[in-house]
Amino acid sequence: DEARQRFADANPNSLARQNEAAASLPGGNTRAVLWYPPFPVSFVSGEGCRVTDFDGHTYVDLVSEYSAGFYGHSDKAISAALVDVIQGGILLGAPNRYEARLAAAVVDRFPAIERVRFCNSGTEANVMAISAARAITQRSNILAFREGYHGGVLTFAHGGSPLNLPFPFIFADYNDIAGAAALVREQGSDLAAVIVEPMLGGGGCIPATREFLEALRAATKETGALLIFDEVMTSRLDYRALHGAHGVFPDFVTLGKYIGGGASFGAFGGRADLIDRFDPASPGAFSHGGTFNNNILSMAAGYTGLTQVLTQEASRAINARGDRLREAMNVSLERQGVEGIVIGRGSLMNLHFVKGPVETPAPLDNADPSVIALWHVEMLLRGYYVTPRGMLALSLPFGDAELAGFTAAFDDFLSSNLK
Ligand code: PLP
Repeated sequence: DEARQRFADANPNSLARQNEAAASLPGGNTRAVLWYPPFPVSFVSGEGCRVTDFDGHTYVDLVSEYSAGFYGHSDKAISAALVDVIQGGILLGAPNRYEARLAAAVVDRFPAIERVRFCNSGTEANVMAISAARAITQRSNILAFREGYHGGVLTFAHGGSPLNLPFPFIFADYNDIAGAAALVREQGSDLAAVIVEPMLGGGGCIPATREFLEALRAATKETGALLIFDEVMTSRLDYRALHGAHGVFPDFVTLGKYIGGGASFGAFGGRADLIDRFDPASPGAFSHGGTFNNNILSMAAGYTGLTQVLTQEASRAINARGDRLREAMNVSLERQGVEGIVIGRGSLMNLHFVKGPVETPAPLDNADPSVIALWHVEMLLRGYYVTPRGMLALSLPFGDAELAGFTAAFDDFLSSNLK
């Protein structure tokens, strides 16, 4: 409470914005994830890996728009591409000069994607992949994992009251090879698809073991169910996404977030024989509309990001830096004798104040929510924009100086606030 009071005192303009917004938005909010007590800081601008709020504080950004802000703020090449398309008209109502180029870049990069279709969000991409899997297999059930997150209407985490779509879902435990494989076999010809994040993102950055993903691949192949990897968050963890890194190839891959270069984006792709069912010239083609599916802002920003900004070297460097940050925070926790662990992979990680190891969601039930809440406010007060749940996402401009600064601030928090 004392830290929250200091936070409120330091942010009168964010509070005023919050109060104004609450007149027309419920609780001043239109994205549940961006709300925390007593009220969220609101931003006016961003540059590189820094954001500036309504009260003039500048933060190092480790939220990175929950991983979608991979390129950092105001990247020059992406900004130039956006200005160029804005000046040429943005609602042309026909195929435009960027969508095929972005599609080719996506197909070129991600080995399990032979064909792709665009949509407007990661949520929509998953709804499309699940719907396509059910139509193709003529089966109904979908196997998903507890604590998985596949979008605003496909959320299986604890807490809140999710508004889920009425697909017939069956649930298994993440990283439980025997349990999941047994369920797939038991479901047999009733099971249309398995949907899985190759690392639980919203569920706490718990990486899947390769063996778990391989077991899902083998079991679905056996029963004829289709395997969907939701790589909306994880495609940034390797130049070829996590399916490429692990060499496990699903039937469908869904994408979103940074691949639109900062504009709204979703995509579902995969095996050519499956995605080609959407070819409008083929008999009985699946119909897939969407006014903004090929919107030129996302297509141009996305193409520029993938081909000019996220080089193989940039991808390797940021993921290696993330591994170093995770290690440095774990060293800090150990040295200060604080019970906690940072898990994840590469540029995405999550701090949990529980005893490790954490290889499944179960140990996270033991966390005391007041500790992570204190960490959140204290890191904001120290000039680091972090998520209330402890997730950290690095953007490409986050460098070694920011890594050193953040590690020192984290160490200071542990020694000043938790001892
Ligand atoms: N799938 C995963 C794994 C996600 O993390 C998210 C968003 O956080 C989504 C799907 C939904 O994407 P969007 O917010 O673009 O609808």
